[in-house]
Amino acid sequence: MYPKTNLIFHNGAFVQAQEANTSVYSQSLHYGVGVIDGLRAYQTPEGTQIFKAQAHYERFIDSAQRMDIKIPYSSEELVQLSYRLLEYNKLQCAYIRPLVYVGINMDMETSPETNIVLTSWNWENYQGGSPLDLMVSSYRRLHPSSSMVDAKITGNYINSVMAINEAKQNGYDAALLLDANGFVAEGAGSNFFYEKDQVLYTPPKGTILPGITRATVLDIARELQVPVVEKYFQVDDLKEADAAFFTGTASEISQIRSVNGHTFRLNWEETIAREIQLKYHQLVTLADFDRYAII
Ligand code: PMP
Repeated sequence: MYPKTNLIFHNGAFVQAQEANTSVYSQSLHYGVGVIDGLRAYQTPEGTQIFKAQAHYERFIDSAQRMDIKIPYSSEELVQLSYRLLEYNKLQCAYIRPLVYVGINMDMETSPETNIVLTSWNWENYQGGSPLDLMVSSYRRLHPSSSMVDAKITGNYINSVMAINEAKQNGYDAALLLDANGFVAEGAGSNFFYEKDQVLYTPPKGTILPGITRATVLDIARELQVPVVEKYFQVDDLKEADAAFFTGTASEISQIRSVNGHTFRLNWEETIAREIQLKYHQLVTLADFDRYAII
């Protein structure tokens, strides 16, 4: 997945991944002072296209600024660099992972030295994968007054790692995290939606990372004239739901089969969620929706 000979962009130059190194005294390694993002490139009739690249890099720069990390590139430059990265590595369907990390400093104030890395690897179209069985995590999402939960700060991800480890150790595929008040928040790396009586429900912004895929689904729903309600709800409310899904750049639109052993009642093929999944795929690949639906 991560070939050592792949080129990466590191601090201004394209180098082989195996040649890049960093200090063991990097503050990022010790305290999680860094920012990431995750983008996807798709093979389309118009060539390789990175979906919503500009929006991803605006979020990346904004997250870094809020952590007092300066990124010496504009979002436009990062988009250009990402296309070059794909070209150099001959990648078409790919995941792109930008990371900004800081320099040597064992103090707790953000180190002024910025290091930037853009990596990419092949990632075939995933189209949702197999249905997921979720465990409601015993770990709550970080409280918005404890961290900037709407920024993609590397240190925030310990919360996700703990939840995923717990879910896997208990035989589940993935975790569903509640917020500090006990309302459903999101997955370890995806946003959550459920469907009931042809209406979609999703937690509002505030305790979640408001994903770019989540925003895309809201747009698709508007286009399909499917009502969406952004509100707080509890795990018990999911017993009445017809279907549920995760959204994320990596996971795209992923069907959720069950939560804590309770299986959603509708056949996925009959859900609005499935229609949205197809529409999302059409959008990212610039494909003809009707033709795709027939295939
Ligand atoms: N929530 C969390 C915690 C995430 O890490 C991600 C992945 N960035 C998402 C939601 C989905 O965000 P996006 O749709 O922008 O990939």
